[in-house]
Amino acid sequence: MSAVLAEAEPRPMEAARDVLRRVFGHEAFRGLQADVIAEVLAGRNALAVLPTGGGKSLCYQIPALVRPGLGLVVSPLIALMTDQVAALVQSGVAAARLDSMIDLDERAETWRRIEAGALDLLYVSPEGLMQPAMLDRLSRTPLSIVAIDEAHCVSQWGHDFRPEYRMLGRLAELFPGVPRLAVTATADARTREDIRAELRLQDSAEFVASFARPELILSAERKRGSAEKRVVELVTARAGRSGVVYAGSREKTETLAQSLRDAGVDALAYHAGLEKRLRADRLEQFLEADAAVMVATIAFGMGVDKPDVRFVIHADPPASIEAYWQEVGRAGRDGEPAEGITLYGAADMAWAYRRLAERDVDDSVKQTQARKVRQLYAMLDGVSCRAAAVRRYFGEEGVEACGQCDLCTGAVETEDATVAAQKALSAAHRLGGRFGRGRLVDHLLARTKDPSAWETGLSTWGIGQELSAAQWKDLTEQLVFEGLLRETPNDGRPLVGLGDADAVRAVFRGERPVLMRKAAAGEERGARGRGRKGREAMAVQAADRPLFDALRAWRAAEAKAQHVPPYVIFHDRTLAEIASARPGGRAALAGLNGVGEAKLAHYGAAVLEVVAGFVA
Ligand code: ADP
Ligand code: ZN
Repeated sequence: MSAVLAEAEPRPMEAARDVLRRVFGHEAFRGLQADVIAEVLAGRNALAVLPTGGGKSLCYQIPALVRPGLGLVVSPLIALMTDQVAALVQSGVAAARLDSMIDLDERAETWRRIEAGALDLLYVSPEGLMQPAMLDRLSRTPLSIVAIDEAHCVSQWGHDFRPEYRMLGRLAELFPGVPRLAVTATADARTREDIRAELRLQDSAEFVASFARPELILSAERKRGSAEKRVVELVTARAGRSGVVYAGSREKTETLAQSLRDAGVDALAYHAGLEKRLRADRLEQFLEADAAVMVATIAFGMGVDKPDVRFVIHADPPASIEAYWQEVGRAGRDGEPAEGITLYGAADMAWAYRRLAERDVDDSVKQTQARKVRQLYAMLDGVSCRAAAVRRYFGEEGVEACGQCDLCTGAVETEDATVAAQKALSAAHRLGGRFGRGRLVDHLLARTKDPSAWETGLSTWGIGQELSAAQWKDLTEQLVFEGLLRETPNDGRPLVGLGDADAVRAVFRGERPVLMRKAAAGEERGARGRGRKGREAMAVQAADRPLFDALRAWRAAEAKAQHVPPYVIFHDRTLAEIASARPGGRAALAGLNGVGEAKLAHYGAAVLEVVAGFVA
């Protein structure tokens, strides 16, 4: 029986809402949380795809607290488990982890609690869980849910593939009748298929959230001069905030971190070449700091659940749009404004192609990967909303511009290319989706080798003389990216046809302009010198700043004393709410977002005392 809910609840969703309020201090479910939780509470399996920061963990934590029995959470990284368990304990939840870092005494104590029915949530690694002794003991324990976190690790197509995850398919027969929930932030159809097949969730409901991250302010700029200098400039302009800087090589993380330290930034380097202990230490330092910068290769990844990362800077571009979204997605997990800034250059793109060419994989894989590289750079160098481009890439429909990225706020010099776009779209239409983009360009320029009479007879033959082949290539790529042209895979030799019919019609009618980046433009733009201070900063009024800072100082001391990351005590957002509401008593404090019963009991008095010092 759950320790949180003392008696059986006739209406499970009401119980779920009650736990949300009392334990986690949140007023309402977000996005698809309620749907996913309802499915699990009905005793059914499910797959939930929510963007990073979308609140995946509550999807299994709440059912674990509402349903009787122990909730099992399979997680790929000790850092992830440590963080979640610490946060749960702060909220008064009986949670523990069993992994290779836990010593014998603690292990025994955890088993004692499990056998006494006193534990609500147990975090385990996949290999730990599948050990016969563990399975044997768990088989005698009533379970409320089996959650598989970061479920995309089961897919060999992704960059987080973990062979141990494959064993988790057996959970279906090992724990029949226990609802299994797979959660991930990786959305593409192939990964989803893999998860379903490998984890035996073929008949389960699938919940896929929007990939919108309205708190992320995206920008990208071409590398000019010293990229290192530019990174130092970007980071020092964001002093006092935590951030991640991704660099393309181990060596570069070290030199960049050094340059940042020379500039007075609390920066650490992180890469797979570091000794394991050192890596763990640095991760811990980063997580526990109020403002630190981690300069890392992509080895620094999944374990990074620090909610108050205010910026992610790509000193070198990511490998694909999937990787981009995952990496910039590590900023702003607390829902407060955060920035994703990418530096890129033609040399990076060439390098990506070269590395791909050297890889020992099938041509079909290479072609897919090459397309991903193209799409990434089309987005980075694009002229229309970055956030919308990414979401469209993930298959979302009816996506609107974000209104806050560098492209939406108009920092890029563009020229109207609507007429050229109409020509390209009309040519694609006439060619009937039978050819690739190269051929479409040839057709527009009347350069097709040995053209048929049919082709030269089309009204679009050779109508594109005003642009060069390279410009047409850019433009058609951009049209694919904007969803106006659509490529079908065709075994790695994509065929191009018309995309979204309404959008295409709007372009033909001249209702939707198509803007193309001006050649040689893009030199004077970037995240530089634009007034976005207001959006960058936490939503704290100037008058509330001193109290907010005092609350942060109190939290830092408390976190240090307990040796936990500050955000497991209270998130910045909660401190901001406190600073603005200035609660005069426990009831008022309890009403604020992020203040559950346990935190009220532990920290209520201390927080109210800090507030009292600021009330005249
Ligand atoms: P992820 O999906 O990336 O695992 P988390 O589960 O870590 O996301 O949640 C991200 C943040 O959102 C956390 O700080 C959590 O406290 C907060 N959160 C989750 N659900 C809600 C909610 N319903 N209302 C308010 N905040 C929420
Ligand atoms: Zn935008």
